[in-house]
Amino acid sequence: MVIVKTAREISKMMDACRISANALRLAGEYVKPGITTWEIDEKVRKYIEKQGATPSFLGYGGFPASACISVNDVVIHGIPSKDQVLKEGDIVSVDVGAFYEGYHGDNAYTYACGKISETAQNLMDATRISLEKGIEAALAGNRVGDIGNAVQTYVEARGYSVVRDFVGHGVGAKLHEDPSIPNFGKAGRGVRLLPGMTIAIEPMICEGSYEVEILEDDWTTVTLDGKLAAHYENTIAITPDGPKIMTVPG
Ligand code: MG
Repeated sequence: MVIVKTAREISKMMDACRISANALRLAGEYVKPGITTWEIDEKVRKYIEKQGATPSFLGYGGFPASACISVNDVVIHGIPSKDQVLKEGDIVSVDVGAFYEGYHGDNAYTYACGKISETAQNLMDATRISLEKGIEAALAGNRVGDIGNAVQTYVEARGYSVVRDFVGHGVGAKLHEDPSIPNFGKAGRGVRLLPGMTIAIEPMICEGSYEVEILEDDWTTVTLDGKLAAHYENTIAITPDGPKIMTVPG
């Protein structure tokens, strides 16, 4: 069931979104060679808890950390670890959500660790811009397929591929609500976008094939071909005046 929120509910949800965005930006400040992904997760958890909020992912479906930290060929759901030390040239996708006063905010960003290859930078740039394209298509009256089509068209024209097995989602009182927001699809198809819907758009884009597999820990999702993947995400609101990005630091 698609939930449409009032302007007042959306303005309350902005607090959770701002905390999420601040936590994500904080994580990015710590992405440097030599740090463990566990240390970054601790910074994120402590920041969120200090705001009186709860990390949305901690314990969600049994997930053991506050942030998903996914390095290089890990697409999403990487588990932070004391054994994982970041090194120069890694690309590090951090996904973090915060729950505050009844609402979740959800966002992700792929950070460069030190100096990265041109190949990696190009993939990150294309993925970041594809999120912008998806957001631009999130207009009241459009359909979910318009978002996915905008993302897919942009990245495939650059030789990249769109993950099929994981998609964006509605977000609000629950971390994952209807509708699903695929990063692929046909324009003009799917659920109609209405003012008051709050959704997480999150392109997961691969350098090679879009096929992924989940490792034995039941979380870590890697590209099957071992090539790089990038992931960016914002929580947005559909408004009569156009899409409003809610996960903005401040
Ligand atoms: Mg999400």
